[in-house]
Amino acid sequence: MSKMTRRKSMEYIKKEYARTRTMPASWYLNSYKYKYNVTHMKPFLDKLKEGKLVGLQCSNCNRVSFPPKLVCGNCLIKPDRWVDLRETATIATYTITYLKDEATGKIIEKPIACIRQDGCDTTIITELAPEINYEDAYVGMPLKIHWADNLEGSLSDIKYYDVIDDKSKDMALREKK
Ligand SMILES: [Zn+2]
Repeated sequence: MSKMTRRKSMEYIKKEYARTRTMPASWYLNSYKYKYNVTHMKPFLDKLKEGKLVGLQCSNCNRVSFPPKLVCGNCLIKPDRWVDLRETATIATYTITYLKDEATGKIIEKPIACIRQDGCDTTIITELAPEINYEDAYVGMPLKIHWADNLEGSLSDIKYYDVIDDKSKDMALREKK
């Protein structure tokens, strides 16, 4: 989407919400501790260290999550089947963030994509290769993982996603390094 169309698509807000009433309000956000279990991630992280992808499949509804979820969002049971995933993915949706460079004051436009790994039912928020022009990005754009130079067994092993032309070239499961 060009800057112009983006600006245009926002115009309805000014028109339709020009007379919106304002009400005083405040939010009190308490502090809290968020506990989460990562033990179910271990087989997934071990595979990442080998440069391989696995998803966790629910044996009841067959949904595959990547990264693995502790509980199936559909059936609320623990998924227990590990399945191999391809390195390829597609953009499910994306947005642009505007970051101000404190030193120069320049606004940096950076795309953030929500992608779906092939063979999996969930999406993950990730970065695209720096050379991708966000104006060229589209929903359904085929991608492939760009691995970090040193694999450590963490999600950062997936450095970002490169654009690929023809997905059929990359359909083979990743070969063991
Ligand atoms: Zn399920």
